[in-house]
Amino acid sequence: MTMKDITEGDIQNNIPLATKDPSNRTIVKFGDVAIGGDKFVVIAGPCAVENRDQVIDIAENVKKSGAQVLRGGAFKPLTFPYQNEKSFELGEEGLKYLAEAREATGMPVVTEVMDPRTVEMVASYADVLQIGARNMQNFPLLAEVGRSGKPVLLKRHFGCSLRDWLGASEHILVQGNPNVVLCERGVSTAHTHAGTSRFIIDIQVVPAVREYSHLPIIVDPSHATFKRSYVPAISKAAMAVGADGIILDVHPVPEQAAVDPLQALSYPVFGQLMEELRAIGQAVGRPI
Ligand code: PEP
Ligand code: MN
Repeated sequence: MTMKDITEGDIQNNIPLATKDPSNRTIVKFGDVAIGGDKFVVIAGPCAVENRDQVIDIAENVKKSGAQVLRGGAFKPLTFPYQNEKSFELGEEGLKYLAEAREATGMPVVTEVMDPRTVEMVASYADVLQIGARNMQNFPLLAEVGRSGKPVLLKRHFGCSLRDWLGASEHILVQGNPNVVLCERGVSTAHTHAGTSRFIIDIQVVPAVREYSHLPIIVDPSHATFKRSYVPAISKAAMAVGADGIILDVHPVPEQAAVDPLQALSYPVFGQLMEELRAIGQAVGRPI
């Protein structure tokens, strides 16, 4: 029986750019940040940009604790179409607040883009373009972010194999854009969709990526666990397993976050986690 897995033929014909010389690791650089180098990179911020003061306050606080990059969504892949005071997206207005937060703190910004028609506009504000899990195989979108030349954070779809994921990265790389960072954010299996496991982190995909690809790999413990009490443990696991960084939801009043209120960390919990990560980083030779 042949397993559908990454074959020699795939490496030669389907994903030659993504799998070229895995030992010669790509370092994706933007601002003062380098993902895939010696340092472990922590990206933090709200799931959704809610207002100007919120995002600037979060940026200042996560920076104080040692985060190097600010995250925040202005275009959100919301499960349901209704916008209300609890669940919304600010669009370009949110991107302006993110740019202000970068001005105020010097932190580069990663934000999601969902539509090929808005790539140029989002790229004019962002330092890194995030492709959400749900859009991992939106090929026109991948081509467009590829053409933008901007660094791309490519999340793994929760139902896709490493082969599919590297195939998606190839769609960006083939446009001449080498700046792709992979992000594991949990997968769905037959036993997920329980409170303790809405998704399951595929922690072994980190060494698998390192085996097959030169691209940097980070982990999103917030979206993978969907549960704030699990986020610190999975963040520490990500560092220990050899990830190049993590991306975390942080909010001043986590249970009141407009989007994903169950998973965001408070400032003190985030600060405590950063201290623990620094200690582990010392042990595994991965300073923050
Ligand atoms: C996010 O990072 O805000 C997000 C929507 O993540 P995902 O695409 O992994 O669900
Ligand atoms: Mn979210």
